[in-house]
Amino acid sequence: MAGNGSLFDLSGRVAVVTGGNRGIGHAMALGLARAGASVAVLARNAEQNQLVLAELKAIGKPALALPLDVTDRPALAPAVAEVERTLGGIDILVNNAGIVALSGGVLNETADVWDKTIETHLNASFLLSQLVAKSMVKRKSGGKIINLASMYSIFGSGLVPSYSAAKGAIVQLTKSLAIELAPYNIQVNAIAPGWIETDMTAAVRSSPMNDEIMARTPAKRWGKSDEIIGATVFLASRGADFITGATLPVDGGYSVY
Ligand code: NAP
Repeated sequence: MAGNGSLFDLSGRVAVVTGGNRGIGHAMALGLARAGASVAVLARNAEQNQLVLAELKAIGKPALALPLDVTDRPALAPAVAEVERTLGGIDILVNNAGIVALSGGVLNETADVWDKTIETHLNASFLLSQLVAKSMVKRKSGGKIINLASMYSIFGSGLVPSYSAAKGAIVQLTKSLAIELAPYNIQVNAIAPGWIETDMTAAVRSSPMNDEIMARTPAKRWGKSDEIIGATVFLASRGADFITGATLPVDGGYSVY
């Protein structure tokens, strides 16, 4: 992997952030660019993609925004190929794209919601990791894969069973990829955000769950998307070369007890 200077300098690296046009992904994309990386954002909303592309370009590094639905399996390989054609071989993949459907629990959740949630979080993370890891191995470049886990990777949820199942599996996928890819100098880790203010959690913030969340969060506040940047840049950097298979909570202490 290229990049000199500080341990956390990402100059010369190419990063991909799925779902990088809003919320946590948006913050991570800008954070990676500010740390020196060329960044490609892959998400569905083309208009929103153009907004983040302008922000990335203003940082002054090469950037790309492609419309992609990560559940559209045939579209994944062409998207990866386009990033590599335009920005160069991918060094950092962040599997961030996500949805949550407040289905109300197993007695209410439809098979369609289950399938879409698993496809968006788990299957897409597997398929994109596979495509990018194959490229990294072929190029002998090493690299970093960062998956988005959740507090629901640790705890069950009576409200969103598909989301909890997907996020639990993301941790095991992370560990499995870490074992297999370590000999190729590819580190695979996950970040488990606590409760972060984004579109995804807007309904929760205005529900009675908000009080329960605050009661068990030692920091006594919601996190901001920008507060995920430090962990992302760290795990994407040379500073984390001997860390693999880990899931790092960024949660104001929510998972401590
Ligand atoms: P968000 O604000 O709702 O943003 C979701 C992002 O994912 C958007 O950029 C969206 O863009 C993209 N996306 C959704 N479905 C997609 C698809 N099929 N293909 C491509 N892109 C897709 O959510 P967030 O809160 O930032 O969450 C980001 C990640 O962090 C998710 O994996 C989430 O599960 C995880 N997380 C969030 C929290 C939290 O408290 N917010 C806590 C733990 C974990 P388009 O709509 O344009 O496609």
